[in-house]
Amino acid sequence: IDGTEEQIKAINGLSQEFDVTTERLRTITDQFVKEMRRGLDHDGATVAMIPSYVSGRPTGDEVGRYLALDLGGTNLRVCEFDLKGKGDCSVKQQKFVISDELKTGDMRDLCDYIADSVDTFLTEHCSKPGPNEEMLQLGYTFSFPVLQTAINRGVLKQWTKGFSSTNAVGKDVALLLQESFKKRYLPVNVAAIVNDTVGTLMAYAYCYPETAMGVILGTGTNASYYEKTANIKKWSEQENPAGTDEMVVNMEWGAFDCERQVLPLTMYDNKVNRQSRNLHQQLFEKMISGMYLGEIVRHAMINLIDQYLLFNGESSPILNKQWGFETAYLTAIEKDKTENLDETKEILEETIGIPSTTLADRQMVKKMGEFVGRRAARLSACGMGGVMMQDDKIGQECIIAIDGSLFEFYPNFEGLLREALGELFGEEAANKVRFALARDGSGLGAAIIAMMAHKQQ
Ligand code: ADP
Repeated sequence: IDGTEEQIKAINGLSQEFDVTTERLRTITDQFVKEMRRGLDHDGATVAMIPSYVSGRPTGDEVGRYLALDLGGTNLRVCEFDLKGKGDCSVKQQKFVISDELKTGDMRDLCDYIADSVDTFLTEHCSKPGPNEEMLQLGYTFSFPVLQTAINRGVLKQWTKGFSSTNAVGKDVALLLQESFKKRYLPVNVAAIVNDTVGTLMAYAYCYPETAMGVILGTGTNASYYEKTANIKKWSEQENPAGTDEMVVNMEWGAFDCERQVLPLTMYDNKVNRQSRNLHQQLFEKMISGMYLGEIVRHAMINLIDQYLLFNGESSPILNKQWGFETAYLTAIEKDKTENLDETKEILEETIGIPSTTLADRQMVKKMGEFVGRRAARLSACGMGGVMMQDDKIGQECIIAIDGSLFEFYPNFEGLLREALGELFGEEAANKVRFALARDGSGLGAAIIAMMAHKQQ
């Protein structure tokens, strides 16, 4: 960068703080395997390793019309999938905004809103079954930690990602929604509760049955994979429902290392954590996912501003506010290849309202984004590496289905993942892994799971 000596020193310092060395990658990955085993061994572990009650693999030949509902990200999504077999399907969908009031209000209001949205969708896009016809089967993608006891039963353990509705934790989220459908005489049956990672895995497996893992890198982060039921030691024999050999396990990996043993937390991470709605929870997620990366960079910028090392010591009302710097800006800035960093200038000065920036300022912001993005990729690679170790996949062909804007849009996220896996397992092994974008996969996955659940009943 073309900055002063102090600025260069500051950036070099940040580079070190945000660095995850190869050595550290190994430590974190080993710890991941340990925590996964703990989660499989007993209830209440940090990485919860929740059995999903999804046990078969789709064949691609599934057919029929199924509804899917997706709650957990920025929008509520309602879809109807028409599965046509051979991995083919068509979809109708509609998005509904979830206001902050709904996210933090009473769970009954949220469920009523969801039911109204489904009603609107059916009225506008599909036909409702008549009184003598079979109910519509719905897969409910509910992307929060839920302790499932059956494919269509699950109790919310805790909220994440900015949700905090009351009267929800400890309750069965399928029953709550079913009640709201009932009140409206909607002929819809919640056939399955589906975690989005499980949905993503199943959706990709509909076309590529050998898919090993489903990963979310969006607002939050999490993953699921097929585990041998024999390894789910926390289950007694009676609990293994279908007596199947394997079952998809929803890891809830966002909670990894909440004991803070191996994660390289910086003071900026600590600030993000302190100001979050779920203090000391989801620390891994807070270092990786789209909801937080911009916020980490915002804290790093403010710290440099306070030392007169950035923007001539001037901030802006937008930058001073929590969530004022979006992760999408990091993507735009990372993509900015102009000599003068014009795009970066526009974001900082026009969008964020910094009075003026020098080229050195812009270069520094770009560097900070790069450090934080790279760290996010390397840390998520540790999770994937942990699963590969547990699942004996190292050196084998392996498909990892990934959904989420961070993976889709952040430049070269895939390259960074592969590089880190290369450091862990060697380049040859890393090159056998295919990272596949499964855009909006969880909806299709939920529809497929609803179908599988309905067939089993
Ligand atoms: P979901 O909410 O279902 O996870 P997404 O996968 O779209 O939906 O993730 C949204 C998150 O991704 C938001 O936290 C947002 O900050 C981040 N995001 C949106 N656009 C981009 C982008 N272009 N680059 C990186 N992150 C993005």
